Amino acid sequence: MLDIDISPLITEDEIKTRVQEMGAELTDKFNGKDVVAICVLKGSIMFFADLIREIKTDVVCEFLGLSSYKDAMTSSGEVKMTSDVNTSLNGKHVLIVEDIVDTGLTMQYLQNNLNNRKPASITTASLLLKPDALKCDCKVDMVGFKIPNDFVVGYGLDYGGQYRNLPFIGQVSSLN
Ligand code: 5GP
Repeated sequence: MLDIDISPLITEDEIKTRVQEMGAELTDKFNGKDVVAICVLKGSIMFFADLIREIKTDVVCEFLGLSSYKDAMTSSGEVKMTSDVNTSLNGKHVLIVEDIVDTGLTMQYLQNNLNNRKPASITTASLLLKPDALKCDCKVDMVGFKIPNDFVVGYGLDYGGQYRNLPFIGQVSSLN
């Protein structure tokens, strides 16, 4: 176990309520459309699993792997695709599901990359957004919570591969 202090920032109940609201909005938006929901691995797993169950219309689920971190807490700024979706996005309504938008470089990379595949539309949903960390003009259509520019873990988000299974979002307040 890594030795860090974690202070709760967003509770399990708050996440649940917000994810239900986002799912209802997406249900209205996508009703009757050909939708491919893309889970961006690995941080989005919890959010994705909960969000798609709140979307009450048919969606095809796909998974895409990206890496941008050079160590546990610092982004390298260079995004690399480690695994791709298994279906054509041509003419589909694509929903990108991200855990967190920090600098925005990952989201920008994704939008550019997926846009080249000629989808009918791209909608982006991120559970978290750090407005003060944004370094580019990327489009995020739906945000669960805006948070301060601090490192967070839990509900899919890791530190050194751990803490993804915490049911709440916690702020890493000090490293020992
Ligand atoms: P961006 O490209 O927007 O700077 O970073 C996006 C990715 O960095 C996220 O998908 C996530 O994997 C990681 N990331 C950014 N901020 C945090 C954070 O506070 N905690 C964790 N665990 N990962 C983060």
